[in-house]
Amino acid sequence: MTPEARVRAVARSVRNRIVPVRRTDGIPRTLIADRRRVLARRRAFGPADLEALDGILRRAEAVVPVRDYMDLPAAQRSPRLVVLRHDTDSDIDNSVRFAEWEAGRGYRASYYVLHTDWYYREGLAGPPSRYVRRALERIQALGHEIGLHNNAITVALRTGRDPAEVLRSELGHLRRAGFEVTGTSAHGDALCRAFGYNNGEAFVEAPRPQNGPPSRTIAGSDPVSGRALRCDLRPVPMASLGLTYEANFVQNRYYVTDSHGRWNRPLDVAAEQFERHDALLKLLVHPAWWAFAGEPLLARSAASAPSVDAPPA
Ligand SMILES: [Zn+2]
Repeated sequence: MTPEARVRAVARSVRNRIVPVRRTDGIPRTLIADRRRVLARRRAFGPADLEALDGILRRAEAVVPVRDYMDLPAAQRSPRLVVLRHDTDSDIDNSVRFAEWEAGRGYRASYYVLHTDWYYREGLAGPPSRYVRRALERIQALGHEIGLHNNAITVALRTGRDPAEVLRSELGHLRRAGFEVTGTSAHGDALCRAFGYNNGEAFVEAPRPQNGPPSRTIAGSDPVSGRALRCDLRPVPMASLGLTYEANFVQNRYYVTDSHGRWNRPLDVAAEQFERHDALLKLLVHPAWWAFAGEPLLARSAASAPSVDAPPA
């Protein structure tokens, strides 16, 4: 550390001792304000898109959370069904807004909460913040499913913990807080691509042969800090964690998602095909992309949307 950096660090620690950190529901207010400011500048979908989304959902005989779909015997599933999933990623406030919008129209969905994002808690371990619990309580009370957006292998790489132990700990926290979690969806962390893993590989039921054998050592250096990271991956059965499914188990003929801030296929074409073929439509929507408070929209290139069904992410 240079002398100047040392002076700055001392000044910071003195300031932190003098000015107490103000928190709302366990999260520093400055962090909440900062995250909200950043998110407000990254909206890609607005009221017209919500209307288009409603147009596709209205064509379904039922719009259901992933757990409901997995629990229903194939013979009892409506032919024209939307299985609706949300990964909360960086925006838990917008997840609540989406949940309210859906409930007002009679739609139910799954919300997978990301245990490594800013709103979840301060620090790396311990129970979830009151901030996220209040949001999840509201979402669950509206009739939606709460699941875990699994980033366990990433946590294991960064902390030296075991992925199954990370999952067991997070599931325990959520269940003790009153959330009946039986499913997960794998988060696509920045490290996944760099290190060649999918967080679902924590389970024996979700191998990814293209990444390597199920049991292996994942190692490399952190692209940002250069620090050496390592995880000994030893998959466990989902049942050993009280889990019954991974969201990517949903078999789909049609898959529509707003990943990267644009639809993976034109929504009007998807809606028309869905209705004509009485299909199962798997819909993955990330609330972080959506403007619910009149925020300006980013330009997005509809021309770049592929027209064929993309495989699940
Ligand atoms: Zn994610």
